[in-house]
Amino acid sequence: MFSTAEIGIDLGTANILVYSKGKGVVLNEPSVVAIDTNTNKVVALGHEAKRMIGRTPDNIETIRPLKDGVIADYDITTSMLRTIMKMTSKKLGMSLRKPNVVICAPSGATSVEKRAIEDAVKSSGANQVFLIEEPVAAAIGADLPVDEPIANVVVDIGGGTTEVAIISFGGIVSCQSIRVGGDQFDDDIVQFVRKKYNLLIGERTAEEMKIEIGYALVKHEEVKINIRGRDLVTGLPKTISVSSYEMQEAMQDSLLQILEAIRATLEACPPELIGDVVDRGVLLTGGGALMNGLQDWLREEIVVPVHIAPNPLESVAIGTGKSLSIINKLLQAAR
Ligand code: ADP
Ligand code: MG
Repeated sequence: MFSTAEIGIDLGTANILVYSKGKGVVLNEPSVVAIDTNTNKVVALGHEAKRMIGRTPDNIETIRPLKDGVIADYDITTSMLRTIMKMTSKKLGMSLRKPNVVICAPSGATSVEKRAIEDAVKSSGANQVFLIEEPVAAAIGADLPVDEPIANVVVDIGGGTTEVAIISFGGIVSCQSIRVGGDQFDDDIVQFVRKKYNLLIGERTAEEMKIEIGYALVKHEEVKINIRGRDLVTGLPKTISVSSYEMQEAMQDSLLQILEAIRATLEACPPELIGDVVDRGVLLTGGGALMNGLQDWLREEIVVPVHIAPNPLESVAIGTGKSLSIINKLLQAAR
């Protein structure tokens, strides 16, 4: 009997992941494509394309077609998804003919934006497409009991956005989405280094600095690294030493915006659920959850327990995958 392939996709601003039933996460690539501007063809995708950022000749452009969690460039997103489907087929060693796809959309997305995600997946060759709210997927992926009448608070810090949601009984009770995430931190670092040292650095360097010496908590043991950039005064290459204290200073405003979003969501929590929040706390997920000192800093600020998801970069993809089985049941019921 012919059975339809089923996959879950986390179409993130920074990373795109594919989950296949029974196999787990089979593909994990940065959401970056390199396009030949003469032919409009995708010449590289994912890690390969990300390495090219800021290093390409005139005819090659590196593009991140998703912005703030939603599609910014529809055609390129479709090309990217098509390539992703091909790569997934190759990984699985079978052709993915018209798979059924579960894909997540940020809870802050408008209906037009959600529709665009659905259409893009369809035109990349999918059969049926199911949308799931991203924070719900993240919670399912982290094994929270989302279908019980218990407050589950998820803070998903991705590349473009941070989403804070209270989920109970399978749905979102209250949520906030702000356009502050990993990309903003990178930009904060570029601006900081430019202002303080008159040194121009690229976004890749800024991201590496953030991952290596970015700290959310003021109190920590100082770490320093050397970085290279272009001296804006002499125009020549220059190496400077940067400290983790400076990183904290650079990212402070953005960190505070994330804290405010968490506070505002907790303030909007229905009274009956407050007890759960105090007991069970908040779960951090998304790549931003991995920032040094973030857990301790938030714990100090919001005075409820703060946990980090077992695999923050994969929670959403795992959640879309797990929800495949629920969707199967729905499909069978509809038959
Ligand atoms: P999205 O869902 O938007 O694709 P992800 O959840 O994949 O985003 O997270 C990507 C973001 O996480 C990027 O901005 C990346 O720089 C950041 N990130 C990854 N690892 C770390 C780390 N160890 N410390 C801080 N930020 C990190
Ligand atoms: Mg995400």
